[in-house]
Amino acid sequence: MKIPVKAVCSECMVTNFTKLSYDQKELECPACGHKLPNFPESELSEMEVTVKKQRLNGIIALVCFVVALVGFGYWFMNGWSPNPEVSAWVSGHSLSEDAQSNETASMIVMFIGFLGTLIFAILSSTKRYVIEF
Ligand SMILES: [Zn+2]
Repeated sequence: MKIPVKAVCSECMVTNFTKLSYDQKELECPACGHKLPNFPESELSEMEVTVKKQRLNGIIALVCFVVALVGFGYWFMNGWSPNPEVSAWVSGHSLSEDAQSNETASMIVMFIGFLGTLIFAILSSTKRYVIEF
């Protein structure tokens, strides 16, 4: 697996986004050609674990977002309309206590979904490897 990192060259201070891999012998600055030997395998595998966790968090954030959208869609279909008759027509059944509690439930689902999206999106982007070489 390749590990995405942000690399800053210590010679010319140019920042570039690159990928580290195990079989790579050295890092090279694309601007000035400054070279540094690649990281030891233990450090690379540590980075790899972190990157994989971030990717997982990113996937969870996406799932939460879908859940939020479903909640939103359900809420929209069930109770959004300012005119209860239109709302009842859209949802295909008359407004009842059932529809009311459905509306509350879908709002909760939407809220939790967006909250989850936010949390996991932050988690998936907290630690980005910045290396200076
Ligand atoms: Zn450089």
